[in-house]
Amino acid sequence: MPVSVLAVASELFPLVKTGGLADVTGALPVALAACDVATTTLIPGYPAVLRALREADTVLEDADLFGGPARVLRAVSGGLDLLVLDAPHLFGRPGNPYVGPDGQDWPDNALRFAALGAMAARVARGGVAAFVPDVVHAHDWQAALALAYLKFLPGRQPGTVITVHNLAFQGLFPADIFPMLGLPEAALTMEGVEFHGMVGYLKAGLACADRITTVSPSYAEEIKTPAYGMGLEGLLQARAAVLHGILNGIDDAVWNPATDTMLAANFSASDASKRSANKAAVQEQFGLARDPGALLFGVISRLTWQKGLDLLLEAIPDVLALGAQLVVLGTGEPALEAGFAAAAAAHPDRIGCVIGYDEALAHQMQAGIDALLVPSRFEPCGLTQLCALRYGAIPVVARVGGLADTVIDANAAAITAGVATGVQFDGGGLRAALQRTAVLWQDTRIWRQMQGNALNMDVSWTHQATQYAALYRELPSK
Ligand code: ADP
Repeated sequence: MPVSVLAVASELFPLVKTGGLADVTGALPVALAACDVATTTLIPGYPAVLRALREADTVLEDADLFGGPARVLRAVSGGLDLLVLDAPHLFGRPGNPYVGPDGQDWPDNALRFAALGAMAARVARGGVAAFVPDVVHAHDWQAALALAYLKFLPGRQPGTVITVHNLAFQGLFPADIFPMLGLPEAALTMEGVEFHGMVGYLKAGLACADRITTVSPSYAEEIKTPAYGMGLEGLLQARAAVLHGILNGIDDAVWNPATDTMLAANFSASDASKRSANKAAVQEQFGLARDPGALLFGVISRLTWQKGLDLLLEAIPDVLALGAQLVVLGTGEPALEAGFAAAAAAHPDRIGCVIGYDEALAHQMQAGIDALLVPSRFEPCGLTQLCALRYGAIPVVARVGGLADTVIDANAAAITAGVATGVQFDGGGLRAALQRTAVLWQDTRIWRQMQGNALNMDVSWTHQATQYAALYRELPSK
């Protein structure tokens, strides 16, 4: 039975991306198509998105959407069916989708993403001619209010799903915004948007959705506990029966070492020795000593507390003591950016750092580094370790969330069975993990086997898409 889905999201690769959310919303529809699920995705009309649209039809207009005129454009981009909310007073701002030039959240983010949600609900209820979605799938807090509009305003009720990509971002706003949202008083309750005297967008989505998914089975368990639940653990426990963990995949056409034009040398599982040309390229790009015998660690990440990179800064002496090298690509907290820049300046032949966001460099690094470090304090799924596996870089990861679910630790049993793909460590264990990785690296036979296992692992969306498709199909019809 075909299923029609309206996905709602604030990011979509390659049009607008700050993190893994965009990768998911960009790749999942393609994989779902093979399961007879047709996805149309509603995204905000940021300048970069509008510029990328070749042809677009106006399919819905509103003279006053939260303070200004708006329209919904229908377009196809990169093979994806899109609806774009063109509302210049809300989204006509260049740069990061959430943060202004002063580094602060836009002061009207509550209205911007209420508008996205409100428009999603209107579209879901027939606002666009000849489009009647069976399911509304909201991603993260920016889209979550759609489910409150559907629940508390009268009209057709499609099935609803919310996916939590990161519980740390909740869209919490002062209660005095509530009158501006156009929701009835009944929505300012436990069953709706109210959260400890505030208005919580993600909370509303979690309370209203027919099904809740998050991006790995381990994270689905973790977020029911106070340590990871970020205050929402009670609600998530109460809704445990409809909470599912479905792992992310990656787009294995975008991430394909055999065809990737951004690499110095292409390779595949059968000829991984060609990675050495990419290693040399990475060493050169970061100005390191061109030493094939040095174990080359890499980091591609937002530089934030979540990612545990302060722990890596503390472990720089260990990296040096092992005779290893480290390359870091990322942006984020000023103290972490400064810390890695200072480490690179102090040890230019061993440590390299690029502060910035660079898709091509990320690809080149995955193809050239020996091991990818992901010491996250929590990690809903994590995509960089999946890219690393696909490119034969050994992931060295904290045993949390999706990292725990996607990497097979090189313990004695896994090595004997020949199934290891990486190294896992528990909180505080990063230094020991670096050492363990160096020992594994020195054993060429084991390292090659791990690399081969990684390269042969299926990290695509194929399997996970069937799980989403099954979830959509079991939604109650109302
Ligand atoms: P999160 O969504 O928490 O930032 P994920 O690992 O789920 O982390 O996804 C991050 C995505 O962003 C990956 O595709 C990764 O390659 C990419 N990425 C992160 N930082 C950078 C950067 N500085 N340059 C290029 N790509 C980056």
